[in-house]
Amino acid sequence: MLEETVVGHHPAHAIELKSISKVYGAVPALLRTDLSVQKGEFLTLLGPSGSGKTTLLNLIAGATGPTTGAILLDGRDITRMPPRDRGIGMVFQNYALMPHMTVFENVAYPLRARREAAKAIRVKVTEALERVGLRGFEDRKPRQLSGGQQQRVGIARCIVYSPAIIMMDEPLGALDKNLREQMQGEIKRLHKDLGTTFIYVTHDQEEALNMSDRICLMSMGEIAQLGTPDELYFQPRSRFVAEFIGESNLISGRMDGRGQMLIAGDRSIAVPGGIPAEGAEMLVMIRPERVRICGIDEAVADDNSLSGEVASSSFIGGTTRVTIRCDNGLNITAKMMSDRSETRPQSGARVNLCWSSADMVVLEN
Ligand code: ADP
Ligand code: MG
Repeated sequence: MLEETVVGHHPAHAIELKSISKVYGAVPALLRTDLSVQKGEFLTLLGPSGSGKTTLLNLIAGATGPTTGAILLDGRDITRMPPRDRGIGMVFQNYALMPHMTVFENVAYPLRARREAAKAIRVKVTEALERVGLRGFEDRKPRQLSGGQQQRVGIARCIVYSPAIIMMDEPLGALDKNLREQMQGEIKRLHKDLGTTFIYVTHDQEEALNMSDRICLMSMGEIAQLGTPDELYFQPRSRFVAEFIGESNLISGRMDGRGQMLIAGDRSIAVPGGIPAEGAEMLVMIRPERVRICGIDEAVADDNSLSGEVASSSFIGGTTRVTIRCDNGLNITAKMMSDRSETRPQSGARVNLCWSSADMVVLEN
């Protein structure tokens, strides 16, 4: 087949979406989106329910066609190519196994559909089951397996024909927390071993932070921010990103012209350098683990401080979350490593809290 050369294609990109959108009837599921997925990377689509994650996967897989735009796979336009010819593997949340078939036959299915020889099928199925730790389970039926084992079969069935891209849509959504964390590690290891491009969907921010090279955070059919886990956590662009990933204290105010921001209760705080001129309305964010609590008589070390009363204190094992109702009306949450109950901040106590302006992030809106 003659390969079509596409102008502007970057060879390091496995998938390129150009101005792709999807409208279902009157519902805009995905607004015009550009996205490049690099070869070999682990990219996660993260976002609340209904933000367009599955729609984006379905467009790449070819399960549905776009309303506008083009999809390139290794530089070739596949926008109108049938799903089977794209060489893209898919793992689903509900496993989608054939209940009447054995584990072996489920995993062999994509190879039989491609009319591979019996001997090659045996070798490849055995290797795929080995990779997911299911050797010896060949003759079982799906109902004789736990949820985690069924999803391993789903993964084996996906990797068995060496697809160029592997996509997983909330594959761990039906599993409990411990198993989910274990499987996160296994999927990461699989990605490293195979070196294949992974596009992974989850609504769980911790899963996304833990697993991804880059995260594409979606909101209402649009990309809210695309970047490494560090970038999304430490440099969130907007209020939505700051609130979706991790916990955040948001403070709004106005620049006073002397490098300080005027906030509630006629207080002013120092903000990071290089910010707008006098009168500008600002929204800034400080993470709870960057806020320190000290005694009301203790000297504060940082360039920002407020005093107030502990409104609530919750001990959640390794960390303790403390919410302070500040005298200027703001509620600020601080998070710290836990001490024993005698030394943890108690509700009603008067405290100072302080933080460094260097740890604050200026948000767009
Ligand atoms: P997510 O996977 O992030 O939860 P989806 O991509 O499934 O989100 O859905 C995005 C939006 O598109 C939602 O508003 C959803 O209701 C709508 N949608 C998805 N699939 C269809 C469909 N087949 N018909 C009509 N609306 C759809
Ligand atoms: Mg979905």
